[in-house]
Amino acid sequence: MDIVKNNDYEITIEDMGNDGEGIGHIDGMTVFVKDTVMGDVAIVRIIKLKKSIAYGRLMKLVTPSPYRVKPLCDKARQCGGCQMQHVSYEKQLEYKWNKVANCLKRIGGIENPETLMEYPAYGMEKPYHYRNKAQFPVGRDKNGNVVIGFYAGRTHAIIDTDSCAIGAEINDEIVKCVRAFIKKYNISTYDETTGKGLFRHILIRVGFVTNEVMVCLVINGDKLPHCDDLVSSLVQISGMTSICININQEKTNRILGDKCVTLWGQDYITDYIGNVKYHISPLSFYQVNPVQTKVLYDKALSYADLKGDEVVWDMYCGIGTISLFLAQKAKHVYGVEIVPQAIEDAKNNAKLNGIENADFYVGKAEEVVPEIYKKGGAGSYADVVVIDPPRKGCDAVLLDTLVKMNPKRIVYVSCDPATLARDIKILGESGYVVRKVAVVDQFCHSGHVETVALLTRKP
Ligand code: SAH
Repeated sequence: MDIVKNNDYEITIEDMGNDGEGIGHIDGMTVFVKDTVMGDVAIVRIIKLKKSIAYGRLMKLVTPSPYRVKPLCDKARQCGGCQMQHVSYEKQLEYKWNKVANCLKRIGGIENPETLMEYPAYGMEKPYHYRNKAQFPVGRDKNGNVVIGFYAGRTHAIIDTDSCAIGAEINDEIVKCVRAFIKKYNISTYDETTGKGLFRHILIRVGFVTNEVMVCLVINGDKLPHCDDLVSSLVQISGMTSICININQEKTNRILGDKCVTLWGQDYITDYIGNVKYHISPLSFYQVNPVQTKVLYDKALSYADLKGDEVVWDMYCGIGTISLFLAQKAKHVYGVEIVPQAIEDAKNNAKLNGIENADFYVGKAEEVVPEIYKKGGAGSYADVVVIDPPRKGCDAVLLDTLVKMNPKRIVYVSCDPATLARDIKILGESGYVVRKVAVVDQFCHSGHVETVALLTRKP
């Protein structure tokens, strides 16, 4: 059968792809269909046709999958924030667990990864309102109405939202205040195509342990007219600790500019992961799901199995979150990270917690670590190495060096199971074997998976 673009076909969804989209077949041709679930029988319109794959749009459900649920959010389908709210949470966890198992098998060359993997994935008891950070774009629709919400998937059209199912509940109140303020004073809003207009984004951060709230108003200018009025309504909101503006006058996709001015309260909020305290400013990196981050770090810590006399390296350490967690149980921790501001935060956070057995280096891990190794002395070997790279995984030079440092244990924290599996294979060639793997759901309702793996040397 010839498959024709813009024609409709009935297909059965048999599997789920990398971003949580459904996968089915028409005559051997693989079709990816957003918004469908394994087990759906659906009428699908072919919207893009390539040599051996096609993309379809869900037109009508013929028989809904038993794994289908009603999303909590009525904008779930349009909004680019969640991809899987229409899939039961249990099935989401199974999907993520299988994704890791498949990568370990196909890319990592591990025969029976299931036997090494903790089952099931570590999920949340209540997988809603888990995010401690929200960035709402502000704009106007065709009729000039203020829209505040989320970008639609793949495009920058703003989906107006009053309430988000994964953000902190207090966000709704803050957005309401800002919306009323923009309407009252008819403040101009930023237009991405022209680069004109003042109000760009609202950034909100919430300390889930302390309940402290930060609101950062991102503007294309250096002053927000009538801001005293906005501040006086925002301070009524429970937990309000910091209100600031961020100046971003560049024509760019980047949300934040480099300069912040505090309008009211502190320049930062405080939060905890476990018993480690952090100061969080508008520009600092901080894990977005603090509840599951604790689960993830506890798992990494238990895999590291520290007794107190170990030298530990934390590669790609960010603001030192894992390093500080480990430092409480180790003799000494070394961290390396490419972003200078993050290392400054790491050092401050160490001080804040009275942690003195941690040293941090700025630079590319694949450059800094080999240099330290070559020099010899402190930091040139490790009992335990923790790696938490970005999605592209580890640099080969770094893997080579860390093998030379001869750690007893390597704990690999990964946000992409494909590169995790690739790097595990490389480490396998140097004699390190995977012993345990845990999957932790950090980004409920998205296709993203977080994994922790423990590797030790072959006996
Ligand atoms: N471990 C931290 C952050 C992990 S995210 C935490 O749990 O919070 C990955 C980090 O790697 C980011 O902070 C990114 O800035 C950093 N990074 C990216 N490329 C790097 C490189 N080549 N060398 C060192 N750090 C790098």
